[in-house]
Amino acid sequence: LFARPCTFFTAAQALDHLPPPDGVEVALAGRSNVGKSSLMNALTGQNALARVSHTPGRTKQLNFFTIEGRLTLVDMPGYGFAKAAKSVKEDWQGLMFNFLRGRPNLRRVLLLLDARIETKPSDNAVMDLLDKAAVAFQLVLTKADDVKPTALAARQAEVEALARKHPAGHPLVLTTSSRTGRGMDELRAELAALA
Ligand code: GDP
Repeated sequence: LFARPCTFFTAAQALDHLPPPDGVEVALAGRSNVGKSSLMNALTGQNALARVSHTPGRTKQLNFFTIEGRLTLVDMPGYGFAKAAKSVKEDWQGLMFNFLRGRPNLRRVLLLLDARIETKPSDNAVMDLLDKAAVAFQLVLTKADDVKPTALAARQAEVEALARKHPAGHPLVLTTSSRTGRGMDELRAELAALA
């Protein structure tokens, strides 16, 4: 599946701009700077994807990418940006929650967590939203190359325990690095099994 090209096809800033719910969708979410763009590039082998998502003005919208109609990747806006005004945060939660809750073909959310830092309150808030929306989510640790093995093992155990606490949490946590490619084959296999 991932040998095929992955292309941007649309963006949505409001629920009435969503593309028709056709085919299998997997969304990617995480705090700003978690390494989401890098992961999407590493996953698909295409550097053009990040550019689309990082275009100013496009950061508060859902970006839709497709692998030849067989799998749609939905890039969700980064959350937890400290400087964002409260109303912006509320917009994010409102649009995101309504998207998550109302999207019948959304099979899974990959929720990215930085392996180097502790889980933040905003991450926990998003996991609670996903539970409420009854959308299965899988935790993915990023930037594993930048953590010493003992600290990484502790972080993995902590995040696995977190996943088990959440009704919508997938028990398998993936540990990745966009720099080294670690975990990419496992991630592709997980997604290919859903497509
Ligand atoms: P986004 O805001 O979530 O899309 O994050 P980016 O993909 O733009 O990455 C944010 C920062 O983290 C950048 O400085 C990247 O170079 C860095 N980064 C991303 N992935 C990795 C990784 O696998 N390892 C390391 N060490 N740094 C990474």
